[in-house]
Amino acid sequence: MGSEERYDIVIVGGGIVGLATALALHRKGVQSLVLEKSDSLRSAGSGIGVFINGWRALDQLGVSTQLQMKSIPISEVHDGLINRSRIRVTPCRNEALRCLKRSDLVEAIANGLPAKAKSVRFGCQVVAVGRDPLTSFPVVHLDDGTNIKAKVLIGCDGSNSVVAKSLGLEAPRLFQMNAVRGLTNYPNGHIYGNTGFRLIGDQLIFGRIPIDDKLVFWFVAWRDHSTDSEVEKIPENIRDLSLELLKEFPTKVIEMVKDCDLDSLSFTHIRHRAPWNFLLQNLYRGTMTVAGDAMHVMGPFLAQGGSSGLEDAIVLGRCLSRELQLGSKNEIDDDEFKKRSEVALKSYVKERRLRVLRLSIQSYIVGSIVATSSWGKRFLCIVILVTFFGGMSLSHTRYNCGPL
Ligand SMILES: Cc1cc2nc3c(=O)[nH]c(=O)nc-3n(C[C@H](O)[C@H](O)[C@H](O)COP(=O)(O)OP(=O)(O)OC[C@H]3O[C@@H](n4cnc5c(N)ncnc54)[C@H](O)[C@@H]3O)c2cc1C
Repeated sequence: MGSEERYDIVIVGGGIVGLATALALHRKGVQSLVLEKSDSLRSAGSGIGVFINGWRALDQLGVSTQLQMKSIPISEVHDGLINRSRIRVTPCRNEALRCLKRSDLVEAIANGLPAKAKSVRFGCQVVAVGRDPLTSFPVVHLDDGTNIKAKVLIGCDGSNSVVAKSLGLEAPRLFQMNAVRGLTNYPNGHIYGNTGFRLIGDQLIFGRIPIDDKLVFWFVAWRDHSTDSEVEKIPENIRDLSLELLKEFPTKVIEMVKDCDLDSLSFTHIRHRAPWNFLLQNLYRGTMTVAGDAMHVMGPFLAQGGSSGLEDAIVLGRCLSRELQLGSKNEIDDDEFKKRSEVALKSYVKERRLRVLRLSIQSYIVGSIVATSSWGKRFLCIVILVTFFGGMSLSHTRYNCGPL
């Protein structure tokens, strides 16, 4: 029989969103424990584009200034089709777009937590979630046999979330696209200035965005024709596969991939949560909920998965601290804690449901335009995008999740 521990608030997953949720709570004077299955901070995915909505959330977490010093502002994004000379230029000064190294982002958030060793427990894999028969609070079961009773449980455990499963949420679907992400360092400086770039080929999209004057983040996403699973695990093979996919692309693109930092490469099967899940399924039950990819994994086509997860963290921090700190400073008993947490999670889900529904649909439509080989489907997606989402407008990035 394993040991048993008790905590008020437990967060499963120490990725961007789990750490951000812990920091949001900490800044409001509410303690939590993060359980992370890796042995140290993870930064898989190498780079991440952050728009103004994400910066607003990072501002609330008190880490935006230090992160802005590690990245350059992007003034415009150029979009084109392969073998066509026409380029569409989208200015984005108002959207405050910058690209960060993921390691810088997770470290900045983690460093804001009190005594990291106490607030984040590494090497802790949650294998199942149950319920205490007496109190009906959640109980998490770890792979080493430990049971942790939590008055509030927040699943920030990514697209394959154990917490989402125990809420009864349907598993996310494969989008039938894969993505490779990487970094290329130019020791003498790159030539791309402050410009992002996306080039669409046949069922394939390549993008690059500078992080600073020397470092560039790039990705390639393509329609899945069932890649050999061994390719995914070996960096040299991931690079060679990317070069093969991009062989018709301009020389500068090919050189960028050839010269990449092999350690930065990652291969992902793109997943998304079906939109009706947001309308028909429970995003919280009792004192248990989900945030980030665990709630709303979406394709990378709007570059909003991470930023919308940071918004979740702020809203969760605000809702939980408001309810738990209501009225007197005296400790509240378990029944009262439960009642207040349920109210908090209900208002969190109410606030987030339509926001993430809209982003998920928009991301799905943009992804389908790239992925489909049917001109009819592509045309229909473009009509929906223009009619309901203002085409390629960046208006979704102007969302403000509000103060903590
Ligand atoms: C190709 C691609 C490009 C993208 N580009 C962008 C972009 O430019 N901008 C943007 O905003 N978003 C982007 N995204 C989306 C973004 O990467 C994700 O939305 C974001 O990383 C989600 O963070 P998270 O913390 O919710 O989940 P994750 O980053 O998946 O973290 C989950 C954490 O939980 C841990 N964990 C999982 N299961 C357990 C368990 N059972 N027990 C304990 N720990 C567990 C994992 O180890 C991990 O650390 C992109 C995604 C892809 C695939």
